[in-house]
Amino acid sequence: MSIQENYNTIKNQLPDNVQLVAVSKTHPVSAIQEVYDLGQRVFGENKVQEVMEKHPLLPKDIQWHVIGHLQTNKVKYIAEFVDTIQSVDSEKLLLEINKEAAKYDRKIKVLLQVKIAEEESKFGLETEEAKALFQKYLEGTYSNIEITGLMGMATFTDNEQQIRKEFSLLKNLFDELSSQKSLNTLSMGMSDDFPIAIECGANSVRVGSAIFGRRDYTK
Ligand SMILES: *Cc1c(COP(=O)(O)O)cnc(C)c1O
Repeated sequence: MSIQENYNTIKNQLPDNVQLVAVSKTHPVSAIQEVYDLGQRVFGENKVQEVMEKHPLLPKDIQWHVIGHLQTNKVKYIAEFVDTIQSVDSEKLLLEINKEAAKYDRKIKVLLQVKIAEEESKFGLETEEAKALFQKYLEGTYSNIEITGLMGMATFTDNEQQIRKEFSLLKNLFDELSSQKSLNTLSMGMSDDFPIAIECGANSVRVGSAIFGRRDYTK
């Protein structure tokens, strides 16, 4: 299927209240432009170097989301233009984003990434850490960031029940934190599991290969 067909198929599966983040990592600027021309404005990248290279070559009204693990020393390279950093997994990183955003006199939206998967490899805060960090944020003076929600990735498995359990865990935390300060975004679900994520309450999904095709890491 073509990118256009893929994109339309995905869009048709999403309820109106669910935001689509088109994950364009490893795919060329031409493919991103193609999806942009179909109306998509929100794109996700996981590497600082890659998004730095791509953003000057593409329309200015693209909202770039960083979705991959971010090292504090690289925040400065994206602070001027990034819309949302979905992968905040430490207080140190939160402070750094606040500091760098201040240099441009702007506000960067962030999501706290929470570890819900069983796999050891996945980044993210433990639930208790996320609660504590959110509390600090509520009490603190972070004038150049706004925590707008939570992000999580389920275990890579065929076991739908397992995936559902993990997404529901994050939805519960989202509701709990929302009762303290209203949050907009619950980002969960990728190409293989976004329908389940939406059933579990996601209102933002990060879809890459189902739009752009398989990623070729050998190039
Ligand atoms: C790559 C990636 C995605 C998209 O994955 P697909 O399976 O290609 O849809 C979503 N979220 C994160 C954090 C990713 O790194």
